[in-house]
Amino acid sequence: MVEAKVKEVLPQEVYQELQAIIGPEYITQDPVICQAYTGRGYAREQMAFLGYSTRPACVVLPETTEEVAKIVRVCNRYRVPYTPASTMWVIQAQPRFRDDVVLIDLKRINTLEIDEKNMIAVLGSAVIYGQLLEEAMRKDMYTIAPGGGSQVSVVANHLNCGICPLCYRIPLSDRRISAAEWVSPEGEVVRMGSRVNDENSWFWGDGLGPSTLGILRGQFGWNGGLGIVTKMSVKLYPFQPERMEPEGRSPETHSKLPPRMKFYNFSMPSGEALQKAMDEISKAQITANAQKVPVSWRQLAKSRDRNDFWEAWSKTTEEDIAKTHILRVFIVGYTSQKQLEYEERVLMDIIVGELGGELRRTRQTDQSLLKMSDAAGMWMMTGGYMSNTAGVDSQRLCAQTGKELGQKMLEYSPPLMPQYNDPGWYQATEFGHQCYLEVPAYMDPDKIDPKSPKYSKEEATRVYQWYMSAVPQIEVKNGFYSIFDGQHIPIGLKGPAWHNYPLWVERFKAEFDPQFVSNPPQPWDVDEIQKRHPEFVTKEAKEAIAKIAKR
Ligand SMILES: Cc1cc2nc3c(=O)[nH]c(=O)nc-3n(C[C@H](O)[C@H](O)[C@H](O)COP(=O)(O)OP(=O)(O)OC[C@H]3O[C@@H](n4cnc5c(N)ncnc54)[C@H](O)[C@@H]3O)c2cc1C
Repeated sequence: MVEAKVKEVLPQEVYQELQAIIGPEYITQDPVICQAYTGRGYAREQMAFLGYSTRPACVVLPETTEEVAKIVRVCNRYRVPYTPASTMWVIQAQPRFRDDVVLIDLKRINTLEIDEKNMIAVLGSAVIYGQLLEEAMRKDMYTIAPGGGSQVSVVANHLNCGICPLCYRIPLSDRRISAAEWVSPEGEVVRMGSRVNDENSWFWGDGLGPSTLGILRGQFGWNGGLGIVTKMSVKLYPFQPERMEPEGRSPETHSKLPPRMKFYNFSMPSGEALQKAMDEISKAQITANAQKVPVSWRQLAKSRDRNDFWEAWSKTTEEDIAKTHILRVFIVGYTSQKQLEYEERVLMDIIVGELGGELRRTRQTDQSLLKMSDAAGMWMMTGGYMSNTAGVDSQRLCAQTGKELGQKMLEYSPPLMPQYNDPGWYQATEFGHQCYLEVPAYMDPDKIDPKSPKYSKEEATRVYQWYMSAVPQIEVKNGFYSIFDGQHIPIGLKGPAWHNYPLWVERFKAEFDPQFVSNPPQPWDVDEIQKRHPEFVTKEAKEAIAKIAKR
């Protein structure tokens, strides 16, 4: 029965043409297999819970760029939408709102080569950070491991975000990409970067003429809305040679830090002192990372399980948060042990000597920074997690926006987990020239899932109003750009106050994806939700944003 419905939504000639491209083994319409590609990943609250995450009409698994290009051309010929998918950690890697989508699962494009001399890795879309980091660290090189976890695709992450605490020394991802192979939304194969001149050269990001790589990247990318990158070369960075030894038994595992890497936790006397500390560290050009972490994460790190967390957390007060200013610093002796010792001395002079910070006992193990296993733990407190906002801006703006969001969240807890006016997480990026802010919010997913007996429409609406009204209102007022536009925030709502950038999105789409088949409706996903649930965007937010847009 279900099979018959699937055939109805995808014309049989499309299926047959796709099958002729990759063979019967790598295509399926089996509803059970297709269902497995549904309702997973980040932001599932908005899509899966509201019922907009849909089953693909068919799944194809190409192995080469040419196969991807041919599939995309067939989709264009028949005006059938397609969604590229790497490890599917975000919901935009799955079909939404419609049931005629071809899901292009890229997991067979899994080649990885490391060019040690030029310090680049050339990789297919299926290669994950875990694989790349293991190979790179054997050669004393490193890149990043995003908070989303080292199980995500390196290519997908470089296209969409690509940030981690080590982006203090290591640049943000738009500058880590060297060359790429892009299947345009209409199925043309475009070589980018140095491959424009020489197909075998993966060495640098700009070819002759305008850099076409710019089409693909922003602070956050297109989330599959502008074709598919099948291969990419990414830069690798010098690291230290000592191995991190794994210890413990799952789930209590960590890596032991070798002597050339060291963590420091400081209690700072005030938020201002913490900010100043980050500035001074940057000016002295020391450390591999300096960050202020939300207080709840500290409690999380100390807790054995969810009950343990809640026992301690429910006793927390706003006064506790107001006097807790933890600065976490990480030093790597990139060139030698002496470098670490030198940086440690400068660090102590600044933090303890000048700013009155106090060094706390710090475990020399890593559970989440270098090989990143954070992603699973982040959900532990409530089982539901979404960041309200995240983005790169000046330190002043990050601190101010975090402060205002922390304060505003008081009005939304419950249904959000209380964070007692915590201004979130921020860290210095690019040697302190910029700063990265992220303010996570947690909620009980059962309260917002209509399928759960604990569901509360009122609380669910309040949660969505937080993401889609309260947060963008503060961002727009402050001029803080969020990487979550289009993921939690309607771009049509914010865009007019942001130089009308959705007009540019439309122009790019009209030029490169005239049939609108590349992962629709991205980046208009949340606008679509707003249309269907006007109550999620409050009158107050609409008016406040429109007022700023008029200026
Ligand atoms: C809990 C959590 C924490 C996170 N923290 C961080 C963080 O600290 N830093 C950070 O950088 N990111 C973070 N992320 C987001 C992270 O960027 C993404 O999860 C990751 O990049 C997605 O990789 P993936 O392989 O799962 O891609 P997918 O989910 O498969 O795809 C992501 C998007 O890109 C599209 N896509 C996939 N492959 C391609 C391709 N080859 N070409 C074109 N489009 C493609 C998909 O259609 C989809 O829209 C976090 C995510 C979660 C869930």
